[in-house]
Amino acid sequence: MTARIIDGKIIAADLRARVADEVARVKRDHGLTPGLAVVLVGNDPASEVYVRSKHKQTQAAGMASFEHVLPATVSQGDLLALVAKLNADPAVHGILVQLPLPKSLNTEQVIAAIDPAKDVDGLHPHNAGRLAGGLSALSPCTPLGCIILTKTVHASLEGLNAIVIGRSNLVGRPLVQLLLNENATVTIAHSRSRDLPDLCRRADLVYAAVGRPEMVRGAWIKPGATVIDVGINRIPLADGKTRLVGDVAYQDALETAGAITPVPGGVGQMTVACLLVNTLRAACAIEGLPAPGV
Ligand code: NAP
Repeated sequence: MTARIIDGKIIAADLRARVADEVARVKRDHGLTPGLAVVLVGNDPASEVYVRSKHKQTQAAGMASFEHVLPATVSQGDLLALVAKLNADPAVHGILVQLPLPKSLNTEQVIAAIDPAKDVDGLHPHNAGRLAGGLSALSPCTPLGCIILTKTVHASLEGLNAIVIGRSNLVGRPLVQLLLNENATVTIAHSRSRDLPDLCRRADLVYAAVGRPEMVRGAWIKPGATVIDVGINRIPLADGKTRLVGDVAYQDALETAGAITPVPGGVGQMTVACLLVNTLRAACAIEGLPAPGV
């Protein structure tokens, strides 16, 4: 049996189109143009690629996109002043500070300075706490994307055994909370977990968010399980070029899984699409409008 491939490209394109429809509706009915401000500090090439893609996709969805590029030498005070300005700007409904920040800056303090209502990355302790408490919250985009991808395979996640490998604030922890909200039974694994292969083999849903190339082997996957691979790892090839691989040994897992996301073309595609969803939701909430249909 070969697994069904969960095509993040198509699913993300469909989500972006639905966001664009809703943006057109709130513009028409309420004169509201949702706006996203992205702050990039320094010139990390990977971050520059992400920020360009966010800018393009925000505009394509009919939203306003504001880009702020600061030098790596910017002071903590100047960065916090920019965040305060964006917090107060009525045209800005979502604020995203591209991570990682240069080591000279205090990331935690910068995230805490963002107005929680505009925290479209879902990393502010207010939103993380609400999510953990089962309350409505802006949730981190990559875990949101993981849930949407899973739901293309399972209409309901209720009662399914899920394992989340990785417990970062960005992916693993919020993903666990979102799965609990869906009534899945969740195991959270990390670098100290014992007998990870055995834990994995019990799961109907496997989420790998580790950052270790192809760590999860096909033999770890329960036959028919759904595998969502969050990992993005660049590995060197013999000819000096590089290749992107996930945290799951894809070819190997194809044989046992029921459905699986490829890397690239899986979760990565969903992250920016979910950022657009969060910006639209934030804009409607801030303006006192009903939640949008996406
Ligand atoms: P992270 O902050 O480095 O966290 C990695 C997690 O994996 C940690 O909780 C760590 O455990 C756990 N881990 C490390 N080695 C392990 C092992 N041998 N066995 C079990 N668990 C292990 O990484 P992240 O930010 O969550 O990102 C994870 C991956 O997702 C990376 O490849 C990243 O590039 C990718 N990513 C993709 C997207 C996307 O849009 N597709 C977005 C974000 C991240 P401890 O807590 O015990 O150290």
